Amino acid sequence: MIPPAKPILGEDERAAVDRVIASGMVAQGPEVAAFEQEFADQVVGGRRCVAVNSGTSGQHLGLLAAGLSAGDEVIVPSFTFAATANTVALTGATPVFVDIEPDYFCLDPRAVEAAITERTRGIMPVHLYGHPANMTELVAIADKHGLEIYEDAAQAHAATWQGKPVGTFGVFAMFSLYPTKNMTSIEGGMVACDDEIARMVRLLRNQGMEKVYENEVVGLNNRMTDVHAAVGRVQLTKLKGWTETRQRNAAFLDANLANVVVPPVAPEATHVYHQYTIRVDGDRDRFRQALADEHGVGSGVYYPIPNHRLPSFRRELDLPETERAAGQVISLPVHPSLSSADLDQIVHAVNTVAKAGA
Ligand SMILES: *Cc1c(COP(=O)(O)O)cnc(C)c1O
Repeated sequence: MIPPAKPILGEDERAAVDRVIASGMVAQGPEVAAFEQEFADQVVGGRRCVAVNSGTSGQHLGLLAAGLSAGDEVIVPSFTFAATANTVALTGATPVFVDIEPDYFCLDPRAVEAAITERTRGIMPVHLYGHPANMTELVAIADKHGLEIYEDAAQAHAATWQGKPVGTFGVFAMFSLYPTKNMTSIEGGMVACDDEIARMVRLLRNQGMEKVYENEVVGLNNRMTDVHAAVGRVQLTKLKGWTETRQRNAAFLDANLANVVVPPVAPEATHVYHQYTIRVDGDRDRFRQALADEHGVGSGVYYPIPNHRLPSFRRELDLPETERAAGQVISLPVHPSLSSADLDQIVHAVNTVAKAGA
């Protein structure tokens, strides 16, 4: 079975972990500092980066550092992983769910503008599947209404919009380093931001302390360990090559898939294909079952239930593009471990099942 995602962890990562363990210093230390600097230089054009123990922590601390609290509203897509809205809600603020545009599965700028109220503090675009949201329009809307932008770049390491890397458009951006993401530190997250927010995120991740036992603010323990940072540093050296391989794999699928809607790319965007997501009409479960059972091709659905309908949020909203996407999307394997035989197998599988009208 070709798996829909496959973390690549090998001898280089193992050697890095061994080196840190042998050093006797395993908690947050010099590896984390080096990882932050290298990630900053390689992914977000040198913007300050702060490492934490998960993407979710990064988003939560970024929002706390931005000063969000009860009474504030943040506009978020409903079609995303729950962490996007969870982190807003955990600050006491209210996530306001809006629809996506149909091409790239990202926030619809018109829907965003229509959802602005006196309480709106910010907009959180998600660069879903590795395709940037429309930052030209979202930044213009934010500027016009005096709002902040917080980027959920969990899936979009090194994606760009008009040549500018995601993670450089807002007050802060969060990158996830979970094993299935484009690079990993096993668990981990990175916050890209300016110095003032960075200082606050560093305080919040460490119980509010810069100097030990002189706690300045109320904080958490969301530190990354040097063991995880060492893995992340190795992975970072491979990110560029892996991204190019994902893009090559996607180009092959684009050119050879038939009878399904392949993912379009905005002219302003570079897509880094965290997921390669097609739309199918008809019975999606049967389609995926046939891919798996008859052709050995694994697939994923991200995300079958929109956030506004989750038991944790439950809002009465009419978000037609969100519902349509949630009912139609299938993510095919696009990861860098695929062989050319795997790619042929995926194309044959999808085309055969689509033709049969599953
Ligand atoms: C993975 C992900 C997160 C959360 O990141 P973790 O590292 O798993 O905490 C948040 N938002 C989106 C869109 C994600 O895909």
